Amino acid sequence: MKKIERTAALRAAITAVRREGGQVGLVPTMGFLHDGHVRLIRQAADECDFVVVSVFVNPLQFGPTEDYETYPRDIEGDMMKAAAAGADVVFCPDVQDMYPDGPPLTSVRVAGISEPLCGAGRPGHFDGVATVVTKLFGLCEPDRAYFGMKDAQQLALVSRLARDLSFRVQVVPCATVREPDGLALSSRNKYLSEQERKTAPAIYAALLEAAELVVHGERDPRIVSIELRQRFAREQCLDIEYAEVRDAGTIAALDHLSGDVLLAVAARVGRTRLIDNVVLHIDGEKVEMEAGEIQGEP
Ligand code: AMP
Repeated sequence: MKKIERTAALRAAITAVRREGGQVGLVPTMGFLHDGHVRLIRQAADECDFVVVSVFVNPLQFGPTEDYETYPRDIEGDMMKAAAAGADVVFCPDVQDMYPDGPPLTSVRVAGISEPLCGAGRPGHFDGVATVVTKLFGLCEPDRAYFGMKDAQQLALVSRLARDLSFRVQVVPCATVREPDGLALSSRNKYLSEQERKTAPAIYAALLEAAELVVHGERDPRIVSIELRQRFAREQCLDIEYAEVRDAGTIAALDHLSGDVLLAVAARVGRTRLIDNVVLHIDGEKVEMEAGEIQGEP
């Protein structure tokens, strides 16, 4: 596996693969890789001839008071995990190489999808995500790009961006990987104290309880979101930012639950902001739940 730090070298490597007719898979990450990322890389390696894992902590998607400077970084560990999972390249440019003229004058905004939920609490965040993903699509010209369902709003945004801007990439959603107690893996879990780590699985437990209501026939989104919030009101040390029920594809608010429905939560556990969700596929009385996979289980 190769480490590539320069955009020009990445383009050259991709051109060589394309010349041979190889299919390129892209897994965009901010590094500090865990088993959630590894699952994306493995799937990409199964489905593509050449897998690029980008490791780039993108300053554009962090607000001024957020953790850009302190975001955990471990490029040596990332290289080992990416290689073991089947990556061909880890692309880890520095900010100067990605944005040689300073902050870009061009910004990509996916109107509507970027505004609610995490977009409300983190103004500008999704414009930063959309802009860097557009750049990565331009650099890698991937046949497939792999995104985790853990970041459901990001997945919806990237899927729409790819369609709107006519990228020929197929955006592939991958299941959320969870700890045995249900906590979704996240690079930010590293920030949790021992006590906070014990509290954090309450987020997933609340999502499952609310999803059960829907499985048992509830179709009023207000009732489901009220239940979700009430469940959190019982948890000390858990400060809810949002707990909402939305259309999973458009992130639009709903009057009635049907189709692909997202139950999404953002909460602060101590000073750490965590997000999680489950997706329900509702077809009349039938409800299928996508809640992810427990780490290590088949
Ligand atoms: P990040 O490094 O946090 O920007 O995440 C990079 C990619 O990994 C995104 O597509 C995330 O949705 C995905 N990801 C992060 N955590 C998980 C997880 N627990 N399970 C599956 N995918 C994940």
